[in-house]
Amino acid sequence: MAVMDGCEAQYRTPVPEERVCPQCGKEVEVFTNRGRVIEDTACSCGYVFKAEEDVPLKVERPEE
Ligand SMILES: [Zn+2]
Repeated sequence: MAVMDGCEAQYRTPVPEERVCPQCGKEVEVFTNRGRVIEDTACSCGYVFKAEEDVPLKVERPEE
């Protein structure tokens, strides 16, 4: 059974979204996932919309 299909899958699919560049005011299409920019996207003016990482719920331990 493909239990992960349907509604759940939508949230995993990047969607194009228009963001206004704070530098030049132009609208730039960036790919987002649940409102987060998932990859660096450069505006034509040079401003870069940085990818916003979702903070994973895991404890980081220093490896030895
Ligand atoms: Zn710009």
